[in-house]
Amino acid sequence: MSDLYARHKAVLPDWLALYYQDPLEITHGEGRHVWDADGNKYLDFFGGILTTMTAHALPEVTKAVSEQAGRIIHSSTLYLNRPMVELAERIAQLSGIPDARVFFTTSGTEANDTALLLATAHRRSNQILAMRNSYHGRSFSAVGITGNKGWSPTSLSPLQTLYVHGGVRTRGPYAGLSDAGFIAACVEDLRDLLGHVRAPAALIAEPVQGVGGFTIPPDGLYAAFREVLDEHGILWISDEVQTGWGRTGEHFWGWQAHDAAGPPDMLTFAKGIGNGMSIGGVVARAEIMNCLDSNSISTFGGSPVTMAAGLANLSYLLEHDLQGNARRVGGLLIERLRAIAEQVDGVREVRGRGLMIGVELVKPGTGEAHPEGAAAVLEAAREEGLLIGKGGGHDTSVLRIAPPLSLTVAEAEEGAAILDRALRCTR
Ligand code: PMP
Repeated sequence: MSDLYARHKAVLPDWLALYYQDPLEITHGEGRHVWDADGNKYLDFFGGILTTMTAHALPEVTKAVSEQAGRIIHSSTLYLNRPMVELAERIAQLSGIPDARVFFTTSGTEANDTALLLATAHRRSNQILAMRNSYHGRSFSAVGITGNKGWSPTSLSPLQTLYVHGGVRTRGPYAGLSDAGFIAACVEDLRDLLGHVRAPAALIAEPVQGVGGFTIPPDGLYAAFREVLDEHGILWISDEVQTGWGRTGEHFWGWQAHDAAGPPDMLTFAKGIGNGMSIGGVVARAEIMNCLDSNSISTFGGSPVTMAAGLANLSYLLEHDLQGNARRVGGLLIERLRAIAEQVDGVREVRGRGLMIGVELVKPGTGEAHPEGAAAVLEAAREEGLLIGKGGGHDTSVLRIAPPLSLTVAEAEEGAAILDRALRCTR
């Protein structure tokens, strides 16, 4: 055990998850690569849990941050804040939400918390619909709408949460149905549920479940849900913390795969927009955002330094069409991984949208979930200089691949070749 790991264990909570038997200390990065304290270089296929949206140490972001830090590091509230207004204008316009207002937080958890505050206040209801196998953060209210029990350490939620089917297709009662059949079954489940409950405030859902294992519902599921929600005046909150900013390739936001549903009433974002700096936020129609009748501020949400990072990072993303890059390079990587999966035992499914790719592992022969296999693949890939993530619902048997969106074809090929070997050597 390294000295730093021993010190970490002595002073930090036991439940603070770390990857690898011998955890990594990342000391620096560049482009799609990071280095550890021993000088080992890794191709980063997890982008620091999707926080590195464009590239590590992107000079444009570093410059914007250091220039702003050299001028003033300050709170975001009480005084006018030019970078916050500018980033809010750009996000409001990109969000697709009419008459949009943006509130900045420092994390995805806090963004979802704020969305819940708004939804419950607007609808005068503390009932929330959430998806099975979902993950929305770690605050008291966010764990209360997190359907993935591995990440919700208490069930003593102040909210009344009801879980809806639709997040996962490979398991559960609707596994194996066609797209249309799956949507119909989930809508029937939602209708049935709404027949038994009072008046939920909102449905919150990740368009592609992230921590839950990059699960992809059929396009149009949320459009179908939306019709039912509208009959009851229930709001739709799209948690875009992992799916936003073009990560899914085809779309800038995950909700757009359900286009007929139109924009959600609120969307929440975080992670990649700051390229590692802590930015989160909520976008909502003005009528919803302004329903609070007393002040609500965040001392650091929207702080000028993080906003400067967000502005530089977003400009880079748009100017270099990284959404298009995610679609092209992600498409190639998915194809390559599917070809590899045919050659090895124990891959149930390779699924993905853009640069958000899941490889679900099962025990060869039995078809049971294979969390030990996933952990072994992570270790083997690390040995060869590749960092990937893992996730999944009842178990953790899905490899998660989400590199910075500037990934090149050569890097995709290199990572796929390592994964090919890693998948073989753990059988
Ligand atoms: N929502 C989703 C979909 C997430 O994946 C996460 C983080 N994994 C969160 C919310 C919480 O974000 P944060 O860790 O920044 O609080």
